[in-house]
Amino acid sequence: MIGVVVKIHSNFYYVKCSTLLLECKIREKLKKANQEVFVGDKVVVEEIEIESSQGAIFEVLERTSFLPKPSIANIDQVITVSSIIDPVLDYSQLDRYLVNAGRHGFNSIICINKTDLLDNIDEINEIKAIYEPLGYKLIFLSAKTAEGIEEFKITLKDKISVLCGESGVGKSSIVNTISPGLHLKTKEISNKSHRGTHTTRHVELIELLFDDEHKGIIADAPGFSFLRFDDVLPEMIDEFFTEIHDFSKECFYNDCLHINEEGCNVIKNLNKIPSSRYNSYKAFIEEALEYKKKLINSGHKEEKKSKTIDKGNNEKVNIVKLGLQKREDSRKKNKQKLKNVISSLDYTYYNDECLD
Ligand code: GDP
Ligand code: ZN
Repeated sequence: MIGVVVKIHSNFYYVKCSTLLLECKIREKLKKANQEVFVGDKVVVEEIEIESSQGAIFEVLERTSFLPKPSIANIDQVITVSSIIDPVLDYSQLDRYLVNAGRHGFNSIICINKTDLLDNIDEINEIKAIYEPLGYKLIFLSAKTAEGIEEFKITLKDKISVLCGESGVGKSSIVNTISPGLHLKTKEISNKSHRGTHTTRHVELIELLFDDEHKGIIADAPGFSFLRFDDVLPEMIDEFFTEIHDFSKECFYNDCLHINEEGCNVIKNLNKIPSSRYNSYKAFIEEALEYKKKLINSGHKEEKKSKTIDKGNNEKVNIVKLGLQKREDSRKKNKQKLKNVISSLDYTYYNDECLD
């Protein structure tokens, strides 16, 4: 039987197979092959015991998409959820979600909640002015008054969507407004921080029934609140900022990061780039530079071939380090990895010498 993993908890995999929800273990053979199983995976379940609703996962079918941190397989779209007020829209966090989704091949839909708290539409126009020219679809709604909910439902119809957004922006409330029967727990906003209190939950696929024919599936993904760009090279970032990338073609250096380089066409045109977007870009570049530094350091760290040990009574001897060959091999692999990364970037100022 083929089913979808909807939840993972304490080594149990909950698999929805048509109307059944089975509690499954992974077959030993898959474990030995280091086969990972994620929420959203389509799996083959066998050894099903109907009475106890248990089974075993025998096979994981090929994934059509994958989003890490937290890991979810086979989703169709990423929807970022922010609130316009309480908590006030955090542009940098929104950009973080957009870049993260873009890196993994997803075009996000931007959903802005709590429009009922807004006195005038200036802010809505401001958000539109930044993100519409970049090609993002925007949905403004209020989970409280249900304004905009119908448009949101159409977006979710017959798709698996992941909702990512900080705690307190109203993700659970939106889901409850769409599917009141679900009664997802909502959180009170703390007066002090204007943010929801953080509760650790697991990723879970939730089925939303709109009418007799249509349904949508959403993945609630709490871990997205802690995204950092600590696994991406700085040269890759501007690709996800179209408005910066467009100007970058005229920069003097082709490895320009558009921070303070001479002849940078992006800096020349900063008045045409929304400041919130450039601020997000700079913050992400900083994180990515830290990652690159780490990568380079791990590539040419000196390893001593022997170590000194104290034999007591002040007598010191040099001994050859055990496991050195193994570490040498892994160091070589690291260096090769780094060389591959750098040559693929045509990164001119990292020459071979720096890597040896
Ligand atoms: P989540 O952490 O993103 O799931 O956020 P919740 O759904 O728990 O909502 C956090 C708080 O915001 C709760 O107190 C909700 O009642 C409130 N809230 C959610 N949506 C709206 C909305 O559209 N308008 C207003 N005024 N409050 C909302
Ligand atoms: Zn530049």
